Amino acid sequence: MTHLNILVTGGAGFLGSHLCTRLIEQEHEVVCVDNFFSGSKQNVAHLIGHPRFELIRHDIVRPLFIEADQIYNLACPASPKAYQFNPIKTIKTSTVGMVNVLGLAKRCGARVLHTSTSEVYGDPDIHPQTEDYWGNVNPIGPRSCYDEGKRVAESLCMNYHLAHKLEVRIVRIFNTYGPRMHPDDGRVVSNFIMQALRGESLTLYGDGEQTRSFCYVDDLIDGFLAMMNQDEETGPVNLGNPVENSMKELADAVLKITGSKSGTTHLPLPEDDPKQRCPDISKARRILGWEPKVDLQAGLTETIKYYQGQIQKGEL
Ligand code: NAD
Ligand code: UDP
Ligand code: UDP
Repeated sequence: MTHLNILVTGGAGFLGSHLCTRLIEQEHEVVCVDNFFSGSKQNVAHLIGHPRFELIRHDIVRPLFIEADQIYNLACPASPKAYQFNPIKTIKTSTVGMVNVLGLAKRCGARVLHTSTSEVYGDPDIHPQTEDYWGNVNPIGPRSCYDEGKRVAESLCMNYHLAHKLEVRIVRIFNTYGPRMHPDDGRVVSNFIMQALRGESLTLYGDGEQTRSFCYVDDLIDGFLAMMNQDEETGPVNLGNPVENSMKELADAVLKITGSKSGTTHLPLPEDDPKQRCPDISKARRILGWEPKVDLQAGLTETIKYYQGQIQKGEL
């Protein structure tokens, strides 16, 4: 494979750190740009000092002038707790930030893979969701800074593609988990694992019957690489695990693997919490030959090992 100059925005976050690691393993030159809002240097500590890795503190809402052959745009807080901390900033990152990334790509002739989200489908009326479903999003609800920002970002990508022949690749990511997920970002997998390891009761919101589909991070990164390195499809393409689990089933799985004696406590369901979410990944299967390989049991076991290691090191 040719060795490329690759820019990863949001590279010090959960997904970005795994992506940077994989790109370095493939012998590319990697520039990781991050403002460290929801990511950390710790996430890429293992890459610092590597001759082909560079870490730049930068906010993509400001213009950036560097050279790149490929750009993975991941910069954007992803958990509701993080993206609702400063909703206007979240919108700026997905809009002004996206324009800057596309402007940079246009100047360099770089291909851009943009990480969109299943949240563009909102609280969907159809299950599972295919890419041609337009979504059911509340434009003024508490999730709108994220959902609507991501919808504008997709539109910007398509319009730069149409107006400037820019090569864009849009992936819509469904719930993904794994090592280096922020332990207290309020997302369900990290919440349940940390609660189980601390012997606290697992907080089930609502009746726990709402479903999500959980993709292990290594599978998702395979999907990113396959999408970026094919020449036919602009997207959007759904990437996620089509196996659906209720939150109650997830809680039971975490309790079983950790051997924790913690029980569960029911708390109110947050506003605008989708009842069901599951990707239709036929398009990814057809175009990329991609599908997840790691099942929930194996992925949770790896993730729990990571958190146990962090606790032992005194990092958590
Ligand atoms: P994360 O919060 O761990 O990573 C995002 C990174 O972007 C962080 O390191 C953060 O500091 C950085 N960032 C935020 N705003 C920035 C800005 N203005 N300038 C520069 N850096 C900035 O989240 P993640 O789970 O790794 O998500 C990565 C991308 O994937 C996000 O765009 C997110 O919307 C998308 N996504 C993730 C999931 C998931 O389940 N993890 C699902 C759907 C979409
Ligand atoms: N931009 C950037 N780096 C570059 C090129 C452009 O950050 O290498 C930013 C710049 O702020 C610009 C935006 O991207 O405003 C959009 O660029 P584009 O060329 O599409 O539009 P214009 O320069 O006409 O606004
Ligand atoms: N959830 C839960 N307990 C928690 C955190 C979340 O039951 O401690 C539920 C939440 O209500 C939602 C699901 O788990 O139905 C997934 O929530 P998360 O915030 O992880 O992701 P998203 O809602 O963005 O899919």
